[in-house]
Amino acid sequence: MKIICIGRNYADHAKELNNAVPTKPLVFMKPPSALLVNNKPFYYPEFSKDIHYELEVVLKIARNGRHVQPEFAHKYYNKVALGIDFTARDLQQKCKEKGHPWEIAKGFDGSAVLSEFVSIKDLEDKEAIEFRLSKNGEDVQKGNTKDLIFSFDYIITYVSQFFKLQQGDLIYTGTPAGVGPVQVGDKLEGFLTTKKEEIKMLKCNIK
Ligand code: MG
Repeated sequence: MKIICIGRNYADHAKELNNAVPTKPLVFMKPPSALLVNNKPFYYPEFSKDIHYELEVVLKIARNGRHVQPEFAHKYYNKVALGIDFTARDLQQKCKEKGHPWEIAKGFDGSAVLSEFVSIKDLEDKEAIEFRLSKNGEDVQKGNTKDLIFSFDYIITYVSQFFKLQQGDLIYTGTPAGVGPVQVGDKLEGFLTTKKEEIKMLKCNIK
């Protein structure tokens, strides 16, 4: 199982970190050991003083495939979750300055928070999924997948040129604006709107 992540996939977020809006998806990975599930707490690591939350819609890959053509891309995922792409922003900044890979800033233990999944069938419109993150009861991020620069189908087609997609793989599809730091004691909650109602998908306490 692999965890594929897309960076800078919402223009408002690219701008808030003074990054250019990309013309092709920015792809990186986290190892499976990064996963943090079942609403377990996140333990603030000693190597960073600036851990940021990034709430993202996550796709679960439903079948194996490589070189997926655009017209078939929708067949490769059938469930979505919410995830937090925890990022050690201070380490990431150093890596960027040196032109080094990002893994230590993005793939550390617990950096891939993942909720339960909901079926795409239960969503009003998979092209317009509303989601939000609250920190200590206050909304800090609000997103809608209609604002994605690269759609789910485009991501599937693009990524599968390089990496064989395998059933169970996860794709973190990028974060909207509003990313920010967490501190020990913070309580994060992620919500997603389905056909019927808004569901609390995840909670993550920072310890
Ligand atoms: Mg991200």
